[in-house]
Amino acid sequence: MEVEYRDDKVGYDPGVFEVPPLFRSPPQPLQMLKWFISKFMWYQSVLWILISFICYRYFTPELSNFQSFKIDSFFLIWLRNISIMFLIVGFQHWYLYTRKSQGSDFKYDSRWPAKKRRSFSFDNQTKDNMFWSLTSGCGIAALYEVFMFFLHANDSIGRVDSFIPTALTTVSLFWLSSIHFYANHRLLHIKPLYEIVHSVHHRNVNTGPWSGISMHPFEHLIYFSLPLVFVFIPASPFLVTFSLLYLILAPSPSHSGFHRYRFANTEIPAADYFHYLHHKYFDCNYGTILFPLDKWFDTFHDGSVKAHKEIIQKRMLNRK
Ligand SMILES: [Zn+2]
Ligand SMILES: [Zn+2]
Repeated sequence: MEVEYRDDKVGYDPGVFEVPPLFRSPPQPLQMLKWFISKFMWYQSVLWILISFICYRYFTPELSNFQSFKIDSFFLIWLRNISIMFLIVGFQHWYLYTRKSQGSDFKYDSRWPAKKRRSFSFDNQTKDNMFWSLTSGCGIAALYEVFMFFLHANDSIGRVDSFIPTALTTVSLFWLSSIHFYANHRLLHIKPLYEIVHSVHHRNVNTGPWSGISMHPFEHLIYFSLPLVFVFIPASPFLVTFSLLYLILAPSPSHSGFHRYRFANTEIPAADYFHYLHHKYFDCNYGTILFPLDKWFDTFHDGSVKAHKEIIQKRMLNRK
């Protein structure tokens, strides 16, 4: 059955995108390396590593403090998470949505978020997003960090501190995180879990920087469980801080709604169109573009009219 296509794009359209070179046919490993370094690592991933290193080195209590559970160590990490969110996420929100520094240039949805909407806590999207991120988000991430540091401080798990293994594990974590995210995200789209838990995140259709980790506490529990892999993989405690700060901060530009940021005459890549399409269409793009599991599980939306038609057609068939 032919489906009528209604063009409901009202903002910036970055066009159709492809899977990374390694997953094309035929695979292009050298192109993949170039893509990984120049598009994936530079600049956002490098920034998350750098920020995590500074936080781990200068703003995290010494490991010896975690031999037993101390409430003040937990609060210090919670406070650190809140502060870094205000700095990084708050800046993006202020620059793009309060000061409107680049107007709606590069904005996927040219409408600005509604000021008053009953579907949000406090009837306001920004307040709702900040509340869930700073309370449950930063708090549950801090709990995981305390728990993992407790295991490290008591030598209950393996530890490798030298530079090369740490660097390799740091890079591998992006891939692990992609698989972990796809698996838990698919689970959260199963009906009762979606309605009770994941719908808190999906209140945000026209997303902003604060929407990134605006989630139900149960989703935070699953989403921030990534560092538990280090119970099985010996690694530096830095990887614990890094994995959690990466999960806290990386979703802020990716949900910002702006494909590129403009600072004076410089433009840099910002939002993740792949995940924007998930918020827009809801039943596609569950994972990340780095490891395109969606392609293999037939839930890939590349931003084309053809993919749009297919998704509408699939929905109609499922309804029958
Ligand atoms: Zn979802
Ligand atoms: Zn999202």
